[in-house]
Amino acid sequence: MNTLFAANWKMHKTRAEANQTARDLVRLVSALPAGREALLIPPFTAIDATLHGLGGASGFQVGAQDFYPAAHGAFTGEVSPAMLLDAGARWALTGHSERRHVIGESDAFVGQKTAFGLAQGLGVILCVGETMEERKAGQLKDVLIRQMEQGLQNVPQDISPERLCLAYEPVWAIGTGLVAGPEEILEAHALVRRLLEGILGSGARSVRILYGGSVKPDNASEIIALDNVEGVLVGGASLKADDFSRIVLA
Ligand code: 13P
Repeated sequence: MNTLFAANWKMHKTRAEANQTARDLVRLVSALPAGREALLIPPFTAIDATLHGLGGASGFQVGAQDFYPAAHGAFTGEVSPAMLLDAGARWALTGHSERRHVIGESDAFVGQKTAFGLAQGLGVILCVGETMEERKAGQLKDVLIRQMEQGLQNVPQDISPERLCLAYEPVWAIGTGLVAGPEEILEAHALVRRLLEGILGSGARSVRILYGGSVKPDNASEIIALDNVEGVLVGGASLKADDFSRIVLA
């Protein structure tokens, strides 16, 4: 399976900015190296503009940062998976730490979304990771077990590994410049891999596990070379085409 380079633009970029960044990226990358694919995840309002900016460039896709787990209905402010697919998004994030810790989403709700998004035809990137307090208290394993058992609840065992990714994003490494060290990444990713197989069976062996948290052009190649790391989920360093192109080409 290809190594996935995902750019989470969070609440950044107007339509014009997203379009320009996508164009610049395609120009700077020109051809993705073999075995790599890229995913741009803009705010909902810029999905269309980002797709246009990519101009159908091979190996690039567009995703969304969130959705609501229902087909339609009285859910003011929310967007359904079918609406995202209609807008051209092929993937969506669930369980991002900012949704868990800033917006207050529960493990159970993250699980509902993950199963629903997959059932509706989206690819889903389920994000998991511990806070610094949890790490210091020795709770890494407990946190991952809880987030993954609930996050993958109701995901069918025969889910295509091409449509599901896990992203390990230690909360203390997000936007802080503190990147997890190789040992920390290896330990957490091995744990995520074991849990994945425990929950979904051996079919989940090729589900990709991405690392996220202060990935930059100068640390990306070292991170993607680690065992059980099949991609990266990049925040701050994905906002500039120049930085993100260097990560994709690292
Ligand atoms: P940073 O790369 O800014 O640390 O953000 C990581 C992240 O949250 C990606 O989803």
